[in-house]
Amino acid sequence: MAWDRIIGQRRVKELLRRVLSSGSVAHAHLFWGGEGVGKDAMAIEFGRALNCHQNQVDPCGACASCRKVDMLQHPNISLIVALPVGKNEQSGDDPVTVLSEDQIGAIQDQLKLKAENPYHRIAVPKANFIKINSVRNLRREASLSSFEGGKRVFIITNAEEMNAEASNSLLKTLEEPSSDSVLILTTAQKEHLLPTILSRCQLVQFDPLSEEELQEALVTRNGVESEQAALVARLADGSYTAALEMLSVDMVAQRQEAVHFLRLVLGSQKIPLALEVERIAALGDRNAVERWMKLLGVWLRDAMVLREQGEAGLLNRDQLKDLSSFNQKFPHAYLYRALESVDTSIALVGKNGYLPLVVTSLAIDLKRHLAS
Ligand SMILES: [Zn+2]
Repeated sequence: MAWDRIIGQRRVKELLRRVLSSGSVAHAHLFWGGEGVGKDAMAIEFGRALNCHQNQVDPCGACASCRKVDMLQHPNISLIVALPVGKNEQSGDDPVTVLSEDQIGAIQDQLKLKAENPYHRIAVPKANFIKINSVRNLRREASLSSFEGGKRVFIITNAEEMNAEASNSLLKTLEEPSSDSVLILTTAQKEHLLPTILSRCQLVQFDPLSEEELQEALVTRNGVESEQAALVARLADGSYTAALEMLSVDMVAQRQEAVHFLRLVLGSQKIPLALEVERIAALGDRNAVERWMKLLGVWLRDAMVLREQGEAGLLNRDQLKDLSSFNQKFPHAYLYRALESVDTSIALVGKNGYLPLVVTSLAIDLKRHLAS
């Protein structure tokens, strides 16, 4: 079914379907909202509808045009992404052919992954920004007429990665719209775009995905077992992309580390705790520290659920034994306070807080709240 490939986002789907039925599609759109909530996937689907031979509101998914869009090989659909700068690249050069064979290969691999999974985050080595040559290319192509009577759709993903030159060049395109083309910019950082660009786009806001939507997607699309899907959905902050990335790390091992940390905090041996604090702070990767803290938070949340409501609703069902013995040992633990401390620490990690200090104060706070 049309639009079914997009997880959740019912409001946006309805909005875009209304736009398509009315036949008055704006020249430029900005899809904005968190990472991994489906902005690119929606942009591709929108492009599919604008080019479907059968139905231009609910694309059929079966015609030659729909199939080409699915493979990201439709001549009317262009994806503009950050690219490396070529050796001796000059203004006006083709942004891709100036690159080395290896680099072009890497880009093709990424596009293939994106075609297989529109939620894939494209990452090309050394691609730090969207080049002016890519935008110039877009301007040139937008001035040509589209193929097979559809619309040319230019999707600028992570539009905040345009450098100043590229942004200014895009502004000119936005000022001279061509009737055959539709521009869709996607971004999780709207504030990094020029106000003059924002004012020329139809803004479409995307919501974070709900835990239920994420859980269902993980079960049905990725064959993840329901309990693990619930846990990952809880940790993914409304992002399917983040959830997929989490599946690739060993969550069980990481959760064991979080539980081990709690044991040390509640124990009386200072040196092992100090060493563990040092180890975590030295992970270096803030995402990894944040994930570790979230796992810790989910475990504490489960202790609270178990104490107040019983087993149903546990996210770490396999931890039942450890959770029960924790609750028996610390029946008066201030779990709400402990969870607040974990949330504060996660916020500090996100704000570039000094990790050794953040983890040390978390250990002190947890000891005070839990062993009181
Ligand atoms: Zn079709």
